[in-house]
Amino acid sequence: MVSHLYTDKYPTLTLMGSPGCGKGTQSKYMQERLGFLHISTGDLIRSAIEREEKEALEFKDLMKEGKLVPDAFIHRLLNKHLDKIRQKDAQPHGLILDGYPRNTQQAQQMKHLVDENNLSFLGMIYIYVPDDVVFERMLNRTDDNGNQRSDDQEQTIRERIRIFHEKTFPLIDFYRKEYQVAQIDGLGSPEDVFNRITPVVQEWHIPSTQKAESA
Ligand code: AMP
Repeated sequence: MVSHLYTDKYPTLTLMGSPGCGKGTQSKYMQERLGFLHISTGDLIRSAIEREEKEALEFKDLMKEGKLVPDAFIHRLLNKHLDKIRQKDAQPHGLILDGYPRNTQQAQQMKHLVDENNLSFLGMIYIYVPDDVVFERMLNRTDDNGNQRSDDQEQTIRERIRIFHEKTFPLIDFYRKEYQVAQIDGLGSPEDVFNRITPVVQEWHIPSTQKAESA
């Protein structure tokens, strides 16, 4: 378990990569093994749709088509979720944002989200998997109940990959200018990938003053 060296700020990092690169699985591992709390904007939307929230239902079709839902909606969902986390007794060691930010506007807005929620942003982990591999993975994946996601259909998968290249991939350069970015090879077993991510998280999680003291 990574030790929590911050008193009131949640160390926060974002996991990014094309759909099907393994962000969800790696976030789960990081939650279970490193004490980070996994926040997936895709899951937040799917839960809001399940609860039949009016605004979420309006964007159900967009999601089904593999398009991004509006930024303002994403920020309302995230802020509400972060409020809830603060009210809970069990405090996480940090937060992993999975699937956010997805475009430049969200990356700009994230700076406010970080300030307003008293987070400490560590950087971005980019999991790289070639398009043909993620395409096959998504076509063949099912959830724990053996169900396929409604947006894991061939045409939608192509659109999600296209949107990733057009809107999300350019964020790597955006982040490189101001934060730390680590590119991780996403091929191999989930364990292999986790073993590549862990040293990065451990390195980033320790504030530089602590590093200097322990050197
Ligand atoms: P995911 O579960 O991350 O693969 O996301 C599934 C779908 O939810 C995406 O294809 C988008 O339609 C929507 N979505 C998830 N996160 C975002 C986001 N940050 N901005 C806009 N749309 C999102």
